[in-house]
Amino acid sequence: MDGTTATKWVYSFGAGANEGRAGMRNLLGGKGANLAEMASIGLPVPPGFTITTEVCTAFYANDRKYPSGLEKQVKDALAAVEQTTGFRFGDPANPLLVSVRSGARVSMPGMMDTVLNLGLNDATVDGLARKSGDARFAWDSYRRFIQMFGGVVLDVDHHRFEEIIDEVKHEKLVTEDTALTAEDWQRVVSGYKKVVEDATGKPFPQDPWDQLWAAVGAVFGSWMNQRAITYRRLHDIPADWGTAVNVQAMVFGNMGEDCATGVCFTRDPSTGTNLLYGEFLVNAQGEDVVAGIRTPQPLSKASAKPGEVSMEEVMPEVYAELMRVRGVLETHYRDMQDIEFTVQQRRLYMLQTRNGKRTAAASLCIAVDMANEGLIEREEAVRRVNPASLDQLLHPTLDPSAKRTPLGKGLPASPGAACGAVVFSAEEAEARAQKGESVILVRIETSPEDIAGMHAAKGILTTRGGMTSHAAVVARGMGRPCVAGAGGLAVDYTSQTLSAGGQVVRGGETITIDGATGEVFVGSVPMIEPQLSDEFATLMGWADEIRTLKVRTNAETPLDADTARKFGAEGIGLCRTEHMFFDAERILAVREMIMADDAEGRRRAIGKLLPHQRKDFVELFRIMAGLPVTIRLLDPPLHEFLPHSEEEIAEVAASIGAEAEAMARRVADLSEANPMLGHRGCRLGISYPEIYEMQARAIFEAALEVAKETGKAPIPEIMIPLVGMKKELEITRAQVDRMAEAVFAEKGAKVEYSVGTMIELPRAALTADRIADVADFFSFGTNDLTQTVFGLSRDDAGKFLPAYLEQGILAKDPFVSLDREGVGAMVKIAVEKGRATKPDIKLGICGEHGGDPASIAFCQEVGLDYVSCSPYRVPVARLAAAQAALGVGGVDRTA
Ligand code: ADP
Ligand code: MG
Ligand code: MG
Repeated sequence: MDGTTATKWVYSFGAGANEGRAGMRNLLGGKGANLAEMASIGLPVPPGFTITTEVCTAFYANDRKYPSGLEKQVKDALAAVEQTTGFRFGDPANPLLVSVRSGARVSMPGMMDTVLNLGLNDATVDGLARKSGDARFAWDSYRRFIQMFGGVVLDVDHHRFEEIIDEVKHEKLVTEDTALTAEDWQRVVSGYKKVVEDATGKPFPQDPWDQLWAAVGAVFGSWMNQRAITYRRLHDIPADWGTAVNVQAMVFGNMGEDCATGVCFTRDPSTGTNLLYGEFLVNAQGEDVVAGIRTPQPLSKASAKPGEVSMEEVMPEVYAELMRVRGVLETHYRDMQDIEFTVQQRRLYMLQTRNGKRTAAASLCIAVDMANEGLIEREEAVRRVNPASLDQLLHPTLDPSAKRTPLGKGLPASPGAACGAVVFSAEEAEARAQKGESVILVRIETSPEDIAGMHAAKGILTTRGGMTSHAAVVARGMGRPCVAGAGGLAVDYTSQTLSAGGQVVRGGETITIDGATGEVFVGSVPMIEPQLSDEFATLMGWADEIRTLKVRTNAETPLDADTARKFGAEGIGLCRTEHMFFDAERILAVREMIMADDAEGRRRAIGKLLPHQRKDFVELFRIMAGLPVTIRLLDPPLHEFLPHSEEEIAEVAASIGAEAEAMARRVADLSEANPMLGHRGCRLGISYPEIYEMQARAIFEAALEVAKETGKAPIPEIMIPLVGMKKELEITRAQVDRMAEAVFAEKGAKVEYSVGTMIELPRAALTADRIADVADFFSFGTNDLTQTVFGLSRDDAGKFLPAYLEQGILAKDPFVSLDREGVGAMVKIAVEKGRATKPDIKLGICGEHGGDPASIAFCQEVGLDYVSCSPYRVPVARLAAAQAALGVGGVDRTA
């Protein structure tokens, strides 16, 4: 980047022209872009300018030097601010003060904190006092400036500043800041200046321009600090995005009782309720709200608790103006906004707006409400809700009837219940979570360094801070349950204890938190299934209208099938029959079948299994009456069902009248070197036809029974596993068809059915055109297909897959999100070849991938008919399928 071309490095807002707009967030950062946008739609924004993210990038590309031309552009932009405000930067009689604020493309904790009141020095403080007629305010502002600049830019330990204030208060025998006079603050300032000089070896900078450039440099410097780097790594934010710097004329919320500062959401970020939701502090500056020294008050009267005084009551006109601005912002941005504002002498100023972070429940509620209010289209509402976040809504809450031992209570900062071992540091949370432990991160308060630990924890508990504290905001964004500001609980990091009212919980002991109520309990409290809101049903209905992919479930048990139906499953895409074999009542018969010497012995044992299998299918078919049910015939190698202990072997031996020794030999015979590639799937059906025949009989008899009982025939789709060659399917299909004929003849009735295969071997995909000759449907078994295409075993992948992900060899775990490049290519081949032979062949997917939004987008692209996933993923899949139909692309937007 060279300075000779006239690159524009600085964009003004509110001062003369508004040179930016909301769409320019890449260049101006989120904060700068939205300040410009708000100014341009006529909202009251103090004037200022934004130094672009390109300056940050150029700064790091060029050995930490600013591009030429920057200095002049900053000077000119500041002159425009002076012009607009009538104040002058560094003018002792009439000083302009500014804030210096960082702002990346995406909101990013870890960046430099804001510096307020910049431009104050020993001379301008007098000017401010005279102009405002309030010396106390002027000196309080000056000390705030030194404190912030000292801490943020000069890296002076903040305790040293606090000590000075404490000394002055101590001498005056007062405890509140409000009891301090102008002279007291003047003394604090002298003390502060000494602290700075001691710590840095230089006097506190008096030249406002030096102050400004130092603050700007600190913002750019913070882009590369450890906190910011960690945050970027966790959220996949590239380092070359850079941060912008905003310089903005100060407005003062600390000039008296008719001044205030506050933060709010245009709707409730926990529930989504359409009510202004936020807090304010009278006679305060922005940092006071975050610091939590004083208790903020609610904005609206409706949300005030006894003893609280709302802004609606104390500043009714300002409140009315805030409500007006809220309407303007929501109409303009068409989304819930998170705003920061300051009131100076009853005038409202907007200092920030952005799309507000929200819980999954709120996201859903707001999207549906906004569509109903006509602010957005229904399709947009469907687009906005992150399918993966629905998981949270489907998660359990505490069982109200369960016995519990309360420990204390805080604010309900982020809903959901969580239970785990108490840890007191983010590092420990990470370490223990890595070992698979559930932990609750317990802190006095959290800060950006704790992000990784918060992510690793099941829940977060803090004893300090409000609903907009760091812990609360971050937890809501991550979907972690959080109880914040539980002031009645005492955390002692040294003794590693959490205590309240005589009860002591030590590190490692279990607690339960309820983020919806703010309650904290000792031990683990039983949880129950969630209740789904009306908005949930509405959004799902809209999604169903949009999507073209059908959504089925993987289910073997009536409970799973029932749950999935309630969540909207349109049939069963995979019923694994082997699960039905493991039942205690049946395992003996299963073992007899395996141990039998001949077909005769096998038939006898299988005869005992038949009524059980039929009963299983009857139960499933009742729940799925009228819907397709894909039943996979026995798949795993037989040795999985074998007796292991001597007692078990003796039991089977006795039951079939054989020698225990012979039994033990048979067990050894059946064991395989590589069972995954061994005697399993249709290979079993070919060597032991009696097994598949029995299963087919059970299916047809059950289907006829339910058809008769309900009048609605289920549609069995019989699926043969692990087919690699057309001939395998031909033989096994013939077994099934023969059995169908036999049963239909016996019962004098028929049901519709189809026979197809899983595509889970590369050979099956590559010869899908031939296999399609004898298949009515294909179901992609992408778990096995991933194993066979990669040639890796999922059960052993844990040893090396993490390293592959870390080193970027794989972008995502291929067992979670379908590998488009390899496995996806194989699926595509099979789809094309299958359709070439049989254009209307039914195609579905039944691996874990059927519930993964990115994989669902792939299924849409290649034109599958349905996806099938576990019951709790069904709503996720319905929404993801709708988004796929809208071309959203299944991008993971959880970060
Ligand atoms: P963050 O990104 O941490 O929210 P901000 O840059 O938004 O940091 O600043 C934090 C707070 O500082 C603001 O919410 C506001 O209260 C206060 N602030 C920032 N700029 C100004 C200003 N020009 N005038 C008055 N207060 C300001
Ligand atoms: Mg802010
Ligand atoms: Mg398989």
